[in-house]
Amino acid sequence: MSVNDFADERRRMVEEQIIRRGLLEPRLLAAFEAAPRHLFVPKDDRHLAYADGPLPIGFGQTISQPYIAALMTDLLQLKGEECVLEVGTGSGYQAAILSHMAMEIHTIEFVPELAAQAQQMLSKHSNVFCHVGDGSMGWPDAAPYDGIIVTAAAPEAPRTLLDQLKDGGRMVLPVGRREYQVLEVWTRRGDEFDCRVEAGVAFVPLRGKYGWKGVR
Ligand code: SAH
Repeated sequence: MSVNDFADERRRMVEEQIIRRGLLEPRLLAAFEAAPRHLFVPKDDRHLAYADGPLPIGFGQTISQPYIAALMTDLLQLKGEECVLEVGTGSGYQAAILSHMAMEIHTIEFVPELAAQAQQMLSKHSNVFCHVGDGSMGWPDAAPYDGIIVTAAAPEAPRTLLDQLKDGGRMVLPVGRREYQVLEVWTRRGDEFDCRVEAGVAFVPLRGKYGWKGVR
């Protein structure tokens, strides 16, 4: 199984799920063309890797639908020089995408087994740094960030994460109820934060200190 397998499926995914839905930024499309999604899903599900939906990755977690990963990446408006934090490494796929789009990526995962697998998958991405722990508190060691992407749903945007943004930095995260959320895009302007709401989404819950109570 290599990176080049599924090249046709991958091209079709980019064309039908991403371009056709209006995301056209060449660097974004190149990142999705490059990342071998089939290697980030469980072996038995490889034939489904390029389908238009999320997939289970074990431990009750999922790898996001390609289009949602693309939309969230697009909303960060990365130019290539940024330092980015991802909360919720999961399979490592989103981090692999980000590694093509920004200078330095920190990604943090709550479930040690997933973090270990993802770290192995991302070992060739020398600009990605994997951490294990509660990302609802961010990763202060590498802060402040130009961009923060949270790939698990929060009851509200954690203030600790907003505080780890640079001036002008953006944070994209799903916020709402347990079953259904909206994507919020926060921008920091000095000590002010403005928030706009994008598409409706459904993510697994954020755990930890600023996540959902009762989800361990
Ligand atoms: N970005 C992932 C999809 C992640 S699914 C990918 O590309 O595959 C959400 C992930 O967030 C799960 O792996 C879950 O364990 C993790 N998570 C939930 N709460 C967390 C927290 N407080 N800190 C870090 N990771 C968390």
